[in-house]
Amino acid sequence: MRRNFFAVLFGCVSFLAFARHAAGAEVNIYSARHYAIDDILYTNFTKETGVKVNVINGNAPELVERVKREGEKSPADLFMAVDGGVLNSAKLAGILQPLVSPVVDKAVPAHLRDKDSYWVGLTTRARVIVHSKERVKPEELSTYEDLASPKWKGRMTVRSSAAMYDQSLLASLIALDGEEKATQWARGVVNNLARAPQGNDRDQAKAIAAGISDVCVMNTYYVGQMLNSKDPEEVKAAQQVAVFFPNQRTTGTHLNVSGVGLVKGSPNKENAVKLVEFLLALPSQKSLSESNYEYPVNPEAEVAPLLKGWGTGFKTQALDFALYGENNAPAIRIFNEVGWK
Ligand code: FE
Repeated sequence: MRRNFFAVLFGCVSFLAFARHAAGAEVNIYSARHYAIDDILYTNFTKETGVKVNVINGNAPELVERVKREGEKSPADLFMAVDGGVLNSAKLAGILQPLVSPVVDKAVPAHLRDKDSYWVGLTTRARVIVHSKERVKPEELSTYEDLASPKWKGRMTVRSSAAMYDQSLLASLIALDGEEKATQWARGVVNNLARAPQGNDRDQAKAIAAGISDVCVMNTYYVGQMLNSKDPEEVKAAQQVAVFFPNQRTTGTHLNVSGVGLVKGSPNKENAVKLVEFLLALPSQKSLSESNYEYPVNPEAEVAPLLKGWGTGFKTQALDFALYGENNAPAIRIFNEVGWK
């Protein structure tokens, strides 16, 4: 009788342990990254580990709000974003916890992860000047600041200031040059526009190809994606532009980081950490660079030949990514003040 009781008890405990394990064999990502290579890497991770990866896509502020609203019941394990300021804001919003992993610390240089381990970079991207090969010589270009000079009058296009990428660029200029100069810069750029702000990064290169403008700013990986696009129009447009790394003799090119943080209440913490380690390992880092033309954060990882061709030793802004978040509100205020819609 007693024996039976223990047998049944043991059976129940094993079943519960199994059920718990089965239910835990997944990772839930709330992601503001939106690139095809991400899904390929998640599939590879599942093949390798048996751990299923579920992704909920959204924009970063919405996803942060969602985690807050769901509170302790949130199924979110990982939060992914494409901006260092946003990652830091998620830390400050209290939705993250430190992701403690010697593997992560070894794979990623200290300046590309949060000092308290609340987030870690996955890739970086530079926001560069892109120019017409035909109508602009590289010698005519120098700095972001110079784009405000009258010599570019009627020769620039930009995307809307609602885009985080330009908010962070302006936030970085506030940090480096001060608010007054940053305001003058934004005003100068608006005065130089060939048309009202519109479209995404790719549309700025298309404007150059169409002869509407001669210069713009773009994230490096979009140029790579366009050059390798299935859409022949995009390839044709990208072939007419060249990449220029600004501020090499001054404050450096604007760099941003795409990264991931462990959500505070992560129900599948162990697998979540495993996935982050997988994404930082050399094969994933190489894929991110070769398929999406981003820069790996792991310095040992192979960089895509296209990026190597542009030169990888460029000087970058020496700024704490947290400043992009801290200067976000002033940046938006300046955009409004100067009429950068
Ligand atoms: Fe993007």
